[in-house]
Amino acid sequence: MLRKPRRIIEEVIFESLGPLSARELLAMPREGWESLRAGITDHRSGKCGLVARCVACHGQIYISTSHGRPFFAHYQGADPRCPWYSGKNVHPNDVRAAQYRGHQESEMHRRMCELIAELATLDERCEETKVDEYLPPTQGKHGRYPDVLIDWRDFGRFAVEYQMSHTFQTEVSQRCVHYDREGIPLMWVLSSFDTERVPQAVSDVVHRHRGNAFVLDQQAVNASREQRTLVLTCYMSNGQGYDAPVLIRFDELNFPQSLLPYLEDRLVGPLLEQINSKRLPYFRALRAWGDKMGSLHLTELEKFSERQRIDRLVAAAFSIVAEAAGKPENFASDHPNIRGMLNTFQNSGSLAPYAALLTTLIENTSQHTLLNGKVGEHLQRSINGHRLGQVEQVDEHSAEWKLLRSLLPEALDPFIRQRLISAEKLPDWAQNS
Ligand SMILES: [Zn+2]
Repeated sequence: MLRKPRRIIEEVIFESLGPLSARELLAMPREGWESLRAGITDHRSGKCGLVARCVACHGQIYISTSHGRPFFAHYQGADPRCPWYSGKNVHPNDVRAAQYRGHQESEMHRRMCELIAELATLDERCEETKVDEYLPPTQGKHGRYPDVLIDWRDFGRFAVEYQMSHTFQTEVSQRCVHYDREGIPLMWVLSSFDTERVPQAVSDVVHRHRGNAFVLDQQAVNASREQRTLVLTCYMSNGQGYDAPVLIRFDELNFPQSLLPYLEDRLVGPLLEQINSKRLPYFRALRAWGDKMGSLHLTELEKFSERQRIDRLVAAAFSIVAEAAGKPENFASDHPNIRGMLNTFQNSGSLAPYAALLTTLIENTSQHTLLNGKVGEHLQRSINGHRLGQVEQVDEHSAEWKLLRSLLPEALDPFIRQRLISAEKLPDWAQNS
């Protein structure tokens, strides 16, 4: 069958983050775009979340998927005159199929929820279980019917939602936002999990559990009966696929303040390791050779003619990070602190072309208040000089900015920064509130 070529939205702008192209979206790791997808849907569900707009029509967009690949899509009611408008996005067949499946599944669903409640009751700490009973809200107007609600002695209350096959992302989001607001930990339990074929609806749930999939299969049921508590089978993402499953008791899980419980954080753990390992040789070299970075074999740096200036920029940036991390170390000069170093380099002009870059860096660190004082004034003077045509300023598209963004993405890559914030894993040095 011939298919009409799909008109896709080629570029969007995320409020407070900046532009993202369809190509950049496709190049992101799954954890990256799933985090944006969840943030956008959560905003629609009433959490602050994320807002993104089509650059052509300014209509709000969300991230949809096709064969496991993400693309931008207009929300319902988009302007049909948008060059990237692709028609109404309800697929009646899909909806009908889901409803049909929903009807078939409801009996099975009920039995599985009762089984979860029964297994929880085996634990002597279990005080009460409720299946599909109305839970009035403590805030707002609307309550919910949690699939299973369990009250544990010493452990408090938590809700279980049992996912059979197809729960829409909006539904997942609304439940997550609701229980988060109510302060009740929520756990999604899956009926099955095929690591070779993970539907997007399931992947969304796994993402919200930080790359952990919890399944109630026969082994988990047997283990629950043996250990007399709720035991689940847990699959953990390793970036490419999933590790071999392990059996875990519910009380072994981490229950963070907000967000969903998990065994191991598989979402941003690998990302942070990757960032740190990229940065480590720079820190080592800076430490070993002071401000002489000549011994570094950095292809990124080879290209520049003004090698020395860039060495100094990297050294200055790393000094800012060291100070922000509470371990002051000046790699760039003999000044006792970064204030003296920055002021001198702005005055002498040697770092003046990077004033905007350094300002953005400082803004996104624990040292952001420096911008209210002399340092801010000096940097601003260089930026103003650029407007007057006196000082050349590098921007986001320059090789220098890209180099620092790749080395210090927690502060300089808005999308990675957002991902760390939403996972509550932004390092202290990059905190600015
Ligand atoms: Zn549009």
